[in-house]
Amino acid sequence: MSSVAGQLPLEGMPRRLYSCTPSRLNTWLDCRRRYRFTYLDRPQPSKGPAWAHNSVGASVHNALAGWWREPYERRTPLTASILLTNGWINEGFKDVEQSGRWLGRARDLVSGYVATLDPTDDPVGVERTVATRTKVIAVSGRIDRLDRRGDELVVVDYKTGRRPLTQDDARSSLALAIYAIAASTMMRTPCHQVELHHLPTGEIVEWRHTDESLARHLHRAEDLASEAAEADERYRAAVQAPPGTTRRAPQGRRETVGPPEVPAEVDALFAPSPGPICSWCDFRRHCPEGQAAGPDRQPWDGLAE
Ligand code: SF4
Repeated sequence: MSSVAGQLPLEGMPRRLYSCTPSRLNTWLDCRRRYRFTYLDRPQPSKGPAWAHNSVGASVHNALAGWWREPYERRTPLTASILLTNGWINEGFKDVEQSGRWLGRARDLVSGYVATLDPTDDPVGVERTVATRTKVIAVSGRIDRLDRRGDELVVVDYKTGRRPLTQDDARSSLALAIYAIAASTMMRTPCHQVELHHLPTGEIVEWRHTDESLARHLHRAEDLASEAAEADERYRAAVQAPPGTTRRAPQGRRETVGPPEVPAEVDALFAPSPGPICSWCDFRRHCPEGQAAGPDRQPWDGLAE
């Protein structure tokens, strides 16, 4: 019979590449328990209801991506409004009136933003998946927009949240740095500039990386990946996880599914990180520490009303 230790890599043996996204690494960094709920427990523990601010964000992102796919002559503010309206995601709002009000605001956001763009200036990529690998990780992610400016590529990330952004947000973003490295590798073109486009204020926050700062982000990603990979292996060895995805109840309703039991020493690898973020965590219903850390929020509380 195999033991937990028997299933771990032998010392000195190369570990399998850890496949991940920047989002997975950031989840590991933010809260290991949430990481376990999101990426390891299967069936996945049931999430709370959809958030209205996420509906706004996804609707805006989809409309902006669709706008660039339109023929050049249709790339107008009106088209952006129509795309936004047709693809409006209605989940998480208090009522129809609130959803309608935010639809109006989001229409203004996208039409105002595209009015600042040159419709002839086709991006290199829109919602473009990029990937790169090192000896430790195979990392991939999707870039909102990849521009070419002169001889260089520029990573553009749209933001719709209420919090104003700072240059530190662009500088310290692991995701943006990884996207720059991956885009540059795939397209054999330099990419050092990363930008956050904050639609509610129209502000563009930019940061120009050096080769050294990009390398630092990549090493950090590798360090996080090594920690997470080791915890993943310990978890998988301890839990006989059934293959498959989230169970679904009849009529497509999601069942309430809790996390599986794991030995205490494995649970300890995925300790909670209670804090203000817990009020917004999709899995707080399964997390007593997170519930104690902050109040419950209504699905529409993230809107800047
Ligand atoms: S509620 Fe907080 S501590 Fe619990 S899993 Fe979510 S983020 Fe982590």
